[in-house]
Formats: sequence, structure tokens, C-alpha cells
Amino acid sequence: MRRRPDQRLAHVIITFSDADTANRAIVNGLSICHKRVSVAKCRKEPIRCLKCQGWDHIAAECVVTKEVNVCGTCGARDHWTSKCNQQGVTHCTSCKSDDHTSWDRGCPTFLRKVDELNARDPANDIPFFPARETWTWSQSYPS
Ligand SMILES: [Zn+2]
Ligand SMILES: [Zn+2]
Ligand SMILES: [Zn+2]
Repeated sequence: MRRRPDQRLAHVIITFSDADTANRAIVNGLSICHKRVSVAKCRKEPIRCLKCQGWDHIAAECVVTKEVNVCGTCGARDHWTSKCNQQGVTHCTSCKSDDHTSWDRGCPTFLRKVDELNARDPANDIPFFPARETWTWSQSYPS
């Protein structure tokens, strides 16, 4: 994904060598360049195609639409989401609804896809990396 010039937040992907170290970082945060940063696990998310707004494939592998770019914001079929200038217009291609955009994280289709993913991989839904300690399997932080 290309960054917009006004974007201030950056995500850093850190790979930990073992689950214990990763869990400790999630609980305590990490110190990067003398700044405390909070750490969250990267959960797997359903893949949505940026070209056709369909699911389970990426734009580079999209076979649904060759000439068409479906806008994730307004649902028009003639521009990329990033080129959208339809202010205030929302349309979700998945739900065929004008209540929200295709990239809305509250989109019922998105949430159903997340459920399907978690059903296949139950560890995906918990905030920690399952390790020896039982609290890593819980939904909440240790007190
Ligand atoms: Zn596609
Ligand atoms: Zn648009
Ligand atoms: Zn939707």
C-alpha cells in the first residue's frame, strides 16, 4: 500500500524469535529510539482485493476485472480508491450497501470473513502468542 504524504503513524513489523519474548513485548511495550511504543500482535486478516473489492486474492492476482478498478469508497467502477473524489459517498461492494465503504472495518462481510478466519485458526483471535503460560491463551492482559 502506498503511503499518503500526510500519514504520521507508521507501523513497524518486528519479528520475535520466540513466543515468550513477543508476549512480554505486548504486555510491557518496547523501547525504540528511547520512545516507549506499544506492541500489538499482527492478526491475520481477510484479504480484500484493491482492484475489484472481492475477497481472498490480491490485486496482482485479480482475474475478476481486467479493465475495471472498483472504488472501495464510493463503489464506482472507473477509479482506484485512492483517486476517489466522491466526497461523502459510501458504497460497500461486498454488502451492496450504501451505509459504509468496502474498507470499513465494521463492514458485516468483513466481520464474517474475520470470523471464518478465526474459526480456521483459533489462536488468531487472542492477543498473545500461545506459549507455556496459560495467560497467553486468554483474551485479557495479566493483572
Ligand atoms: Zn480482485
Ligand atoms: Zn470512488
Ligand atoms: Zn460491507
